[in-house]
Amino acid sequence: MARNRSSRMGCPNCGATAHIRTSRALSNKSRELYFQCTDPDCEAVFKGVLEVVSIVGDSKLPVEARMGDLLRPADRRKAPDENQTDMFAQPAPSG
Ligand SMILES: [Zn+2]
Repeated sequence: MARNRSSRMGCPNCGATAHIRTSRALSNKSRELYFQCTDPDCEAVFKGVLEVVSIVGDSKLPVEARMGDLLRPADRRKAPDENQTDMFAQPAPSG
């Protein structure tokens, strides 16, 4: 059976497996993780940050339903500001 390695990391002091003991949200894109080394001769405790750096597969949720300012693969805003002047629609100068 495949073992789940998603919550493990190598201890920076001895290289043994370290497990996530706890974590806390820093934002909707990042968490601070607290690790503990499993080597009984080491038992180091350290922390790191897990951060979303880019979206690889876009969400199926409509843009309006998504949280905050999450990263998107492409800026797909299709509703231009109606009050914004269109630089190509200016009246020709008279005279
Ligand atoms: Zn260690």
